[in-house]
Amino acid sequence: MTQDSSSGRLSVRTDLSLIDLYDSEVTACAIDLSDNTNLWGVAPSAAAMLRDLPAATISRYPSAYASELKDAIARYLDVEPAMIVTGCGSDDVLDSAIRAYGRPGEALVLSDPSFSMIPVFARLSGLVPIHVPFGADGEIDPALFNTADATIAYTCSPNNPTGASFASSHIEALASEFAGLVIVDCAYAEFASRPMARLTDRFDNVLMTHTMSKAFGLAGLRIGYGVGHPDLVVQIEKTRGPYKVNSIAALAAVAALDNDRTWVDERVLEMRENRSRFVGCLADIGLDPLPSDANFILVPVEKPVLTGERLRGAGIAVRVFRDLPGIGGALRITIGPWWMMEACVDALQKSLS
Ligand SMILES: *Cc1c(COP(=O)(O)O)cnc(C)c1O
Repeated sequence: MTQDSSSGRLSVRTDLSLIDLYDSEVTACAIDLSDNTNLWGVAPSAAAMLRDLPAATISRYPSAYASELKDAIARYLDVEPAMIVTGCGSDDVLDSAIRAYGRPGEALVLSDPSFSMIPVFARLSGLVPIHVPFGADGEIDPALFNTADATIAYTCSPNNPTGASFASSHIEALASEFAGLVIVDCAYAEFASRPMARLTDRFDNVLMTHTMSKAFGLAGLRIGYGVGHPDLVVQIEKTRGPYKVNSIAALAAVAALDNDRTWVDERVLEMRENRSRFVGCLADIGLDPLPSDANFILVPVEKPVLTGERLRGAGIAVRVFRDLPGIGGALRITIGPWWMMEACVDALQKSLS
């Protein structure tokens, strides 16, 4: 620990003053549509594994780099285990990748709006986040990314918070033109009807990240992973460090990956059905959400903060955005079982009047 000798108090990095604690709105809400987790619940094989857990597994350290989990992910994605890096949530993988490939003072370029944690991870590693707009066609524009003079490019498809998914060809162009690491965040890949090509087969500068927090319903276990060239993955494992995935989480995740693919697919179909029905209901009350290929929709509203507060008063939590570039004030709403969506439409209608 370093001490500031003049005051005798701890001296913290000055750039940490730019970073706030994550605001997670911890107050409980009857219906929580704010964080895009699986509102149908937990992948059943993971739940069964947790019920029958052999307690002896926790007296020892887990596998340093979660080799059994890597094997299960390799089976799930049909890639080599050497192409996989795991982490305590995909946030851990993203953070570790940025630390491995970004040097302090360099830049990280990302679209605006996109995943809010990325500028935070960039700053924590001493990098400067640079935002670029989407192209006029709503796609990722590789040329804009290249003008930023950055060493890391981050894209997210389907994108959080807009829900838009992007053409593989555009991300592919970015991967071949960008002189640095290209991160493709696939947190919502299981929900997308527009498939993303396995760019990692052809590009050694691409890391595709995934999570068990959304489609598999395991957010509380904190499991994420990245797929990339084995040389890239090894460097990210160095900055991640050993023992980041605990043994209980790994056991449950392996069970879910091996056995719950059908369960996930069925929930995805139900989600899509509810999403289009919900979008129809929003149109009926005069709202016009952005097209979404994920398990949430983003809907522009005139008074996002007030509407969000009123919804909360009615027992419904959504994610409030005060002013998104090119969009303005908006609410991000997770799609769940129909009774939740019905309650949300009802409360929205009352909140807007
Ligand atoms: C939810 C989310 C994640 C996942 O986070 P975990 O740390 O795996 O829970 C990553 N990226 C995006 C864009 C997300 O929305």
